[in-house]
Amino acid sequence: MSVRCASCGVPIGIDRETEATLRQTGATFYCHAGHPQSFKTKPDARDREIESLKRTVRWQGEALDEVYAEREELRVERRTCPVCGERRRTRRTMLRHLEDEHLKEEIEEEQP
Ligand SMILES: [Zn+2]
Ligand SMILES: [Zn+2]
Repeated sequence: MSVRCASCGVPIGIDRETEATLRQTGATFYCHAGHPQSFKTKPDARDREIESLKRTVRWQGEALDEVYAEREELRVERRTCPVCGERRRTRRTMLRHLEDEHLKEEIEEEQP
């Protein structure tokens, strides 16, 4: 495939590989008369692929944030006393609180 100077129309002898590189990079090259020219670069397939990957990563990040938020909610729920709504640092201490503060009381109240 022959490339002609955009200014004077003189054929420019570049091989296919060089042409591909020039098209990809949009680098400036010169005809024999010294007219500068360059191919217009289009976003190539790899750029589009990277762009779509970035979108995927962003989307996955948001999805992960949601999962973490839900997990955090669940964790808070698991550490919250179902009787008085008090929060404890861990599930275990919440259960101990539940047992100490509420279950014992009920058992004691039931006893004469
Ligand atoms: Zn020229
Ligand atoms: Zn409680």
